[in-house]
Amino acid sequence: MANDEILKVRDKLNDVSPSFCLAKWYQVTIHLQNGQTHSCHHPWTHKVDVRDLISNPSALHNTPHKKIQRYKMLKGERPAECDYCWKIEDANTENISDRTFKSAENWAMPHFEEAKTMPWDYDFMPRYVEVSFSHACNFKCVYCFPHISSSIMNEFQKFGHYEVSPEYSLQNLEVSGHYPIAHDTHNPYVEAFWRWWPELIKTLEHFRITGGEPLINPNTFRFLDFIKTQPQPKLKFAINSNLGIPDAQFDRFLSSMKVIIENKSIQSFEFYTSVDTHGEQAEYIRDGLNYVNYMKNIRKFLDTLPPETKIIFMCTFNALSVPTFRKFLEDLVQLKKDYKTPWGDPRVVLNLPYLRNPDYLSLAILPKEHLQTLESDFAFIMEHTAEKLHDKWLFMDREISEMQRVINWFRSLDDEANQRHLRKRFYTFVVEHDRRRGKDFTKVFPMLKDFYLQCKDYCTNDSFSEG
Ligand code: SF4
Repeated sequence: MANDEILKVRDKLNDVSPSFCLAKWYQVTIHLQNGQTHSCHHPWTHKVDVRDLISNPSALHNTPHKKIQRYKMLKGERPAECDYCWKIEDANTENISDRTFKSAENWAMPHFEEAKTMPWDYDFMPRYVEVSFSHACNFKCVYCFPHISSSIMNEFQKFGHYEVSPEYSLQNLEVSGHYPIAHDTHNPYVEAFWRWWPELIKTLEHFRITGGEPLINPNTFRFLDFIKTQPQPKLKFAINSNLGIPDAQFDRFLSSMKVIIENKSIQSFEFYTSVDTHGEQAEYIRDGLNYVNYMKNIRKFLDTLPPETKIIFMCTFNALSVPTFRKFLEDLVQLKKDYKTPWGDPRVVLNLPYLRNPDYLSLAILPKEHLQTLESDFAFIMEHTAEKLHDKWLFMDREISEMQRVINWFRSLDDEANQRHLRKRFYTFVVEHDRRRGKDFTKVFPMLKDFYLQCKDYCTNDSFSEG
């Protein structure tokens, strides 16, 4: 969508209220492994009361908590849980946040009048559902937690939680309602989801499966089998994968998708995959990743499936993304060149949220000198835009805006005391992380070695002066 159209959407939302956002009504992410839900995916999750599901499985989305947030938005009050957007909007009045980007989407804007006029406590049918069936996952990403990855759960059971994130101790997960239900036992949330499904699918426009790792979960294949027998030609389907799964499993998925797409059993298919920078540094961030095999699987996917299918790279931009992000962008440009739809659009797209949690791995820990690297990456993107090179397959407005907002956010950070605190936590985390996984941060990130030593100094000096 062009920038002036996006601005019109922002104005239309602001006419209802400056905090109105359709994602609160029509988009939901449901973590069935522990019965947590949120709208959209940015706010913290909250628990679904399993008793509410007995008579109304739509309570997986329409929880009492969420209805109150909708009420606040209609009245112009900012829900605190949406601070991701408020920070972006407050950093620069020109910034466009996800409040606008998401509300502009085709699963949201056509329902503008319904959200505006129906009672705030009405049970709305979400048009965009993202679901995680379980936390089973073969990766241990640095910014991930045990309720999302069973591999991290195993590690926590062996070593305990990280001192810097006591809130993710297994005991706290139990108390806060985040402790996952084992994927091989009965799960009332998964059961409620499949009870809701016949009703949900009638108006569902987008369905996305996340994880854990969805391609090792039988519910994913249950959905694919459903689509094979009951085609949903209006449904847009998306799935996430770390692409670190065994070949046989990946091939099974690709052959199912090939049949579904060739039979036109869904309207469209998008494949989301996460990687946050290039090569060895990406492998450090996403433990379990083999960057070379990963890129081979990307090409296998694009070569096997029909040319209208897309891959969206989700780069959760964090402090460790910075040093080699340019090399990743170069790989991305090559893929964009090699794979286009028959009508010339890119089949490979960049999505660039920035990491907020855990904060000690976010951009907030880095010295401002890294702004230069980010600006140079931005210049590289601008050198490869559709406008500049008169070709549709290169970087588009949305990708450019997302990189710009990462830079704007980094530029707006100026809390030195907090930064010192975060750097100490970063160092404490890395020492323990490397110990449990047999890694060496300074070998993988020689370009951040001075920074790492400075963080170490903060830890040593502050604990000396505190002692
Ligand atoms: S305001 Fe932002 S964080 Fe809140 S629901 Fe909308 S897009 Fe998500």
